[in-house]
Amino acid sequence: MMTGKEIRSRFLKFFEDRGHTIVASSSLIPHNDPTLLFTNAGMNQFKDCFLGKEKRAYVRAATSQKCVRAGGKHNDLENVGRTARHHTFFEMLGNFSFGDYFKKEAIAYAWEFLTVDLGLDKSRLYVTVFTDDDEAADIWHEQEGVPRERIYRFGEKDNFWSMGDTGPCGPCSEIFWDNGPEVGCGSPDCAVGCDCDRYMEIWNNVFMQFDRSADGKLTPLPKPAVDTGMGLERITTVLQGVKSNYDTDLLRGIIAFIEELSGKRYGAQADNDVSMRVIADHSRATAFLIADGVLPSNEGRGYVLRRIMRRAARHAKMLGFNEPALYRSARYVMESMSGAYPELIERMDYVAKVVRNEEERFILTLDNGLRILNDEVAKLKKAGQKVIPGEVVFRLYDTFGFPVDLTADIVEGEGFTLDEAGFEACMEAQRQKAREHWKGSGEEAVSGIYRQLREQGVASEFSGYGKLTDYAPIK
Ligand code: ATP
Ligand code: MG
Ligand code: MG
Ligand code: MG
Repeated sequence: MMTGKEIRSRFLKFFEDRGHTIVASSSLIPHNDPTLLFTNAGMNQFKDCFLGKEKRAYVRAATSQKCVRAGGKHNDLENVGRTARHHTFFEMLGNFSFGDYFKKEAIAYAWEFLTVDLGLDKSRLYVTVFTDDDEAADIWHEQEGVPRERIYRFGEKDNFWSMGDTGPCGPCSEIFWDNGPEVGCGSPDCAVGCDCDRYMEIWNNVFMQFDRSADGKLTPLPKPAVDTGMGLERITTVLQGVKSNYDTDLLRGIIAFIEELSGKRYGAQADNDVSMRVIADHSRATAFLIADGVLPSNEGRGYVLRRIMRRAARHAKMLGFNEPALYRSARYVMESMSGAYPELIERMDYVAKVVRNEEERFILTLDNGLRILNDEVAKLKKAGQKVIPGEVVFRLYDTFGFPVDLTADIVEGEGFTLDEAGFEACMEAQRQKAREHWKGSGEEAVSGIYRQLREQGVASEFSGYGKLTDYAPIK
């Protein structure tokens, strides 16, 4: 059986043998790009190469890129724990052509890698193309022999890729693997494009052709280019013949660690399984984000990290932890992944301290907040109502540190929603008060303890922290 690690190096070697330069993963904090919250795809570090603004010594590249999809345009936070295939943190394998090869070669490489190099069964693979991309459909059929009935056509939402609201974009062609009926939703309509885990997208080949400006206008790129992305965890699921990313060797270790720590068994009880998956995933995101220089805070990137950590803390509570546990699972992640990402080693103690501090602070208010929320739910149920009032959501947010999406997540299972307009009104009233009473510099976002930690733990070449407030607004 091939390990995740072997698959990662096989991919890079395959493309190296075909003239691609292997480039290291860039940081999760996008370099000099305020339009992007976190690095969400392999192509991010090459954005200017696609736009023709930057020339490099190579026109073909391949990477294994750390990605985070939480907040921002590609947001998978809500999917984590519920699907077998979505993470907030994952690794994306990619090959890139900067004005060199285009559709024909990209499709040929992808198909050769999957069906020859990795030996995947063609009868379980499907492909998609953008609505009117006959060229790509013909290449799949005529050049690679994929039967027409296995080639699907989808519109903008699925088959036109963009990294954000602006920047490089273009039609794309995705490759799907049939995980088998046991994994699916069982609906007679279930097919490629269904939201369930049966037909799993493994690889996206983007034919970069445009630059989208803020007003939505598409300007052709100087040269058409190729950007591809394949989730390492997903292709590993396929090759290891398991049903979920969490059963691959890439995540099985962290799950086992959580089993041991909690004394609960994965696979024994559905709610616990969700909690274990959330903790496993969020521990990875937390460790990597902090190692790359993000700190939990009340705004921007730091707030997305805080939301991830508080979701994890709540699931830890549900699993029965009454003491901080995430700093231990984050440490496990760093120890087990430092081979591929050596930056984790030197920052290990620092990251564990930051996680522990954030956890300890939140644990102090979590129980009380949950009690208030549960009382509210019970009261509303009696009254036959299903909406949590804005003032309650605000109080949980303001006094107990519950991010709004956390509150929504907690009550969703019981069919409750939040009065968001009411919450916004409370927020606005508070902002108004703050404007009247306080003239802050913004530096307060980093509390004293974090400032101390960063002074202790930072090597001078580590430039991440300076960018704490260099982010695009979340909405
Ligand atoms: P999906 O439709 O399954 O959400 P996507 O179309 O949003 O995937 P792309 O933006 O095309 O994904 O990213 C390229 C590849 O990265 C995907 O084909 C998939 O293998 C992987 N990938 C995307 N999102 C995630 C995620 N949240 N967790 C793990 N892997 C992912
Ligand atoms: Mg997606
Ligand atoms: Mg998709
Ligand atoms: Mg896709």
